Amino acid sequence: MPIATTNPVTGEVLKTFDALTDEQVDAAIGRAVTGFRALRATSFEQRAGWMRAAADLLDAEQDDVGALMTQEMGKTLAAAKAEVTKCATACRFYAEHAEQFLADEPVDPSAVGAVRAYARYQPLGPVLAVMPWNFPLWQAMRFAAPALMAGNTGLLKHASNVPQTALYLGELFTRAGFPAGAFQTLLVGSDAVERILTDPRVRAATLTGSEGAGRSIAAIAGRELKKTVLELGGSDPYVVLPTADLDRAAQVAATSRCQNNGQSCIAAKRFIVHTDVYDQFVDTFVAHMSALTVGDPMMDATDVGPLATEQGRADVEEQVADAVDKGATVRCGGKAPEGAGWWYPPTVITDITRDMRIFSEEVFGPVAGVYRAASIDEAIELANATSYGLGANAWTDDPQEQQRLAGELDAGAVFVNGMVTSYPQLPFGGVKNSGYGRELSAAGIREFCNLKSVWIGDSGGADVDSATE
Ligand code: NAP
Repeated sequence: MPIATTNPVTGEVLKTFDALTDEQVDAAIGRAVTGFRALRATSFEQRAGWMRAAADLLDAEQDDVGALMTQEMGKTLAAAKAEVTKCATACRFYAEHAEQFLADEPVDPSAVGAVRAYARYQPLGPVLAVMPWNFPLWQAMRFAAPALMAGNTGLLKHASNVPQTALYLGELFTRAGFPAGAFQTLLVGSDAVERILTDPRVRAATLTGSEGAGRSIAAIAGRELKKTVLELGGSDPYVVLPTADLDRAAQVAATSRCQNNGQSCIAAKRFIVHTDVYDQFVDTFVAHMSALTVGDPMMDATDVGPLATEQGRADVEEQVADAVDKGATVRCGGKAPEGAGWWYPPTVITDITRDMRIFSEEVFGPVAGVYRAASIDEAIELANATSYGLGANAWTDDPQEQQRLAGELDAGAVFVNGMVTSYPQLPFGGVKNSGYGRELSAAGIREFCNLKSVWIGDSGGADVDSATE
């Protein structure tokens, strides 16, 4: 994949970049090591000051960075600006809470025969972050803010179609005051990842992206015995039961499916509706999906811009064609317009059977599959009938059903009467083929730490306990 900015509205290549040479990558890893030595010696207070300065830069540059993201991957300008704000919020959140999340955990010294004992979180060193284009700032920030606050350094290999956003991120933290080498962007293709991850100076890796990329990185990291966090794809269910507010459920369903032009890992993708309210829900949902304005992502009135890449649109077209060939019904949308740009309309598909690709695959575009369930049991069975397990949405006002769905849906998050989203305060991640490990919250900052046991005795004390390992 060339490293280039290509406007998805027109398909025009706006700017191309050469990949770094192996020597340049090696030098960057060297700077990450030097930066790590400097960073780990700083206090939480010092790092928090720099992190708050990064947040201030993001706020001040929101319009320009937002427009850059829109130009590189087609999200609406309003969504891009909101993403910048969210990043600033995450920076401030970790600036405020990192010290508390990574505070020493004391242990009763008498229980372990010590004078003093505790567990301490310490940073690991340079961490490779392989990131996707769909939330080009936020995905990288979810890693960067906690990693830097913990004292790790970051090497960002961003998606090849968002190089200018990547370069912005590569300068942001040093502009905010962090030591040189604390966070760098490596403009390289995915073929360079193995070499970087194999370098002994790189201590761990995180990847947000597709299942295939996750498997590849995990295999390399496994061979190298390096820790990984994987945030992969999803095919989130959206269960609607009879006691729900159907109008609201249908409206939020359209927002969830079409946010980020349908290209969000946690977008609801499979809508599982109780048979008693199926017809009413589908009619309202189709009305909301049809009413969305598709157009220039720079315009305020636009709800849905183009898909980010030509290949991405081709994948969606093939998945829809497969369903139609096998007997599915298209309730709205379903056909890409002629002409320049990678547009695809909001689409609702019903009468889906298990042999159709959209039943089991993630659809990364504004295409909703709707399923009928005769009971809550069948709804849960259908919701869990996927290899993914990222998020799950459930709509019901019955408290018992709420508890049952929260407990039985196989996912890293269950949102009841709302749509799955991420907050710095809540852990984020998946189960099954959606990956492992957690970002955000206290769990996220602890992922790339060495939890070190420290035991301090009395040098003139009793015999040592050598009974066990
Ligand atoms: P992708 O093709 O996997 O790309 C993601 C990143 O991985 C890019 O930097 C890409 O580099 C790199 N990459 C691709 N193949 C690789 C390989 N074999 N070895 C090493 N690196 C590799 O994914 P995408 O199409 O950009 O993003 C969409 C996918 O990401 C969807 O499945 C979506 O659900 C998932 N996603 C998950 C989350 C989450 O939090 N769980 C969030 C957002 C997106 P190049 O660009 O150079 O190919």
